Amino acid sequence: MFNKEVKRVSLVGVGPGDENLLTLKALECIQNADVLVYDNLINPTVLNKARLDAKLIYAGKISGNHYLTQDEINETIAEYAGSGEYVVRLKGGDPYIFGRGGEEAEYLIERGIDFETVHGVSSFYAGLGYAGIPITFRGEATSFHVFTGHRKKGEPLDLDFKNIAKTDGSLVFLMGISNLPLIVNGLLSNGMNPHIGAAVVENGTRYNQRVFRGELCSIEDIAKRENIVSPALIVIGDVCKKDLSFFNKYKLPLSGKNILLTATRELVEKMAKRFKETGANICEMSLIVTKEIEIEKEKLVSELNDSTHILFTSSNGVDIFFEQIKRYGIDIRSLYNKKICVIGSGSGEALNKYGVNADFIPSKFDSKSFLDEILPKLDKDSKVLMLRAKIGSDVLPKGLKSAGIAFSDIPVYDTIIDYRKKFELNKDIENFDYVVAASASGAKALVEMIEDKKELSGKVVSIGPVTTKALVELGIENIITAKQYDVEGIIDAIKNL
Ligand code: SAH
Repeated sequence: MFNKEVKRVSLVGVGPGDENLLTLKALECIQNADVLVYDNLINPTVLNKARLDAKLIYAGKISGNHYLTQDEINETIAEYAGSGEYVVRLKGGDPYIFGRGGEEAEYLIERGIDFETVHGVSSFYAGLGYAGIPITFRGEATSFHVFTGHRKKGEPLDLDFKNIAKTDGSLVFLMGISNLPLIVNGLLSNGMNPHIGAAVVENGTRYNQRVFRGELCSIEDIAKRENIVSPALIVIGDVCKKDLSFFNKYKLPLSGKNILLTATRELVEKMAKRFKETGANICEMSLIVTKEIEIEKEKLVSELNDSTHILFTSSNGVDIFFEQIKRYGIDIRSLYNKKICVIGSGSGEALNKYGVNADFIPSKFDSKSFLDEILPKLDKDSKVLMLRAKIGSDVLPKGLKSAGIAFSDIPVYDTIIDYRKKFELNKDIENFDYVVAASASGAKALVEMIEDKKELSGKVVSIGPVTTKALVELGIENIITAKQYDVEGIIDAIKNL
């Protein structure tokens, strides 16, 4: 059990970018945090693992401007920890490698606030590894040396090039891309072999990783020509002549596509699994949260007794219903004589988890097809119990009513917007090729929080006509709509573009 009594602050490294390089310990911290203070390079998918009531505080930089100064970051961490909250400070790579983690730790020690460090995979070796460059190699590089290439404005680089130029091992420079000319010059003018191997690795371990190799004398021109930008690693040494590349080697249908998945967390995680198999780079960002609406036990029992058919329109509805009957101790066999209907494949799969197979799924996953296909199977003795979202569309009740079929429309959950994600959503929206909207309420959350609607034009992939209609009403243009209204349909829609 995670003991919050003894945990006040964790300084956590989340690795260089690929979210699967997150350690199990880091994940545990994120899942338990009351407050998360995070940097610019943190993958938003990692933030999506936070508790729904956790506070998210951005402390990074936006185009050169610090959002919070280092002093403000220190104070923020100490203040929340001091008021009894468990604070998780997220940093790229490892917290003690050029991340100013040491300063944050000192600040906490001075104030008597307990902390721990949770070490992450550092970019300086993993970024190289993903680029196919081993940081050491028997007989070629028997040591490695890691430097910061950063300097204060107007000041020279604080590096002892005289000695560095004599070193045999691999040299890695972090935060150095804008000072590459000074680094190259420092090494060459101190006698380093101009033909020693060199490389630059931009966005190492991420879907958009770029690697360029050359020699010490050519790497500056290469970086300039290719417009290499931060975050990037500079490596000098003959290990750069090795090519052990594996990452992004095989092209899959959606390789290179950067896709933002929005929906509830459960659905985003489910979609992400399938999307990743297509090679897409996935950013998981749930923008809505479902909140259970509790039905009183007597009401639920009598509704169940009276009904001949139960209809679920989403996997949320299924999960909440089964959770409630378990809580009330209602025996699952009381459903033995009900016909269970679902509209989509997701709800069908959710049912299967509870050992129940749907009796009826329409050929197309929308309310109109459901009505067209189910009505001939119903008669005057039928009674449909609909367990669905509070703000469900009126197509189903209207259709049943006009066909003279008795029904109950019981809301089992409400959907609320997760406003904490607003900043993250807007920060990098222009980098996404596609943004997936998987329900009308999710679409509303997306449009409500986006600052520039034009950013979404031509990028939004909608799960089906109901979601598309909601998007159109909210002023979004050029929407791509799936032909089959589920994850596979969304993937096909993107593949076919
Ligand atoms: N603590 C981090 C480093 C922080 S300093 C770590 O252990 O990796 C920030 C610098 O790290 C960047 O300027 C860049 O040089 C390097 N860096 C971080 N992530 C990177 C990545 N994915 N690809 C290339 N360089 C990266």
